[in-house]
Amino acid sequence: MYLLLVEDDLNLGKALCKLLREQFNVDWVRTLAAAQTRFPTAEYDVLLLDLGLPDGDGVGWLGELRAAGCLTPVLIISARDGLDERVKGLDTGADDYLVKPFEAGELLARIRVLLRRKAGSAQPRLAVGDLSYAADAHQFYLKDQPISLSPQERGILAVLVQAGGKPVSRERLLQQLYGLGDGVDSNTLEVRIHGLRRQLGRERIETVRGIGYRLVAL
Ligand code: CA
Repeated sequence: MYLLLVEDDLNLGKALCKLLREQFNVDWVRTLAAAQTRFPTAEYDVLLLDLGLPDGDGVGWLGELRAAGCLTPVLIISARDGLDERVKGLDTGADDYLVKPFEAGELLARIRVLLRRKAGSAQPRLAVGDLSYAADAHQFYLKDQPISLSPQERGILAVLVQAGGKPVSRERLLQQLYGLGDGVDSNTLEVRIHGLRRQLGRERIETVRGIGYRLVAL
């Protein structure tokens, strides 16, 4: 499960990451500008959104996301506890609203609710050739057989599948790896691509000179 945390407060962000990373893959950004670079790809299972951010208001961005058709479940986490603020957040498209300060147990419970609800709404599998991807379960299939991949490999392959066979830049793929957190250097992408090719067949991931990589429909 992949969460995007948009929270500018350094201490709270660190604490939340520590808590959430025990169970989830967490991508943490501290500005709206950084959050915007992570969307509109639908890779996140839940978006945790603070409202008062250094470069703008989370509600405004949430409205843009919903207007663009983004369906990612959103849980607002904000110190704004007024009724008007809460109603506005929910009316703008948040699925839930949690007022700071909150208890860890309640945050986790509310995330579980959103994940359960999301799992209940079946998503179609994405496919490029005989490689398919069930985004809700983060599971890949080759000729309908589930395949086992590392989190970094899954992250890369998800971006490639979502591009539907179009080239994806190295920058975009690196960004995905950085989002997963641990142990990324300049060689990591090549190493992971090598690993994926070993499992999926060399010809399935094509190097696009000067750009990056693309999936080939086989
Ligand atoms: Ca804030």
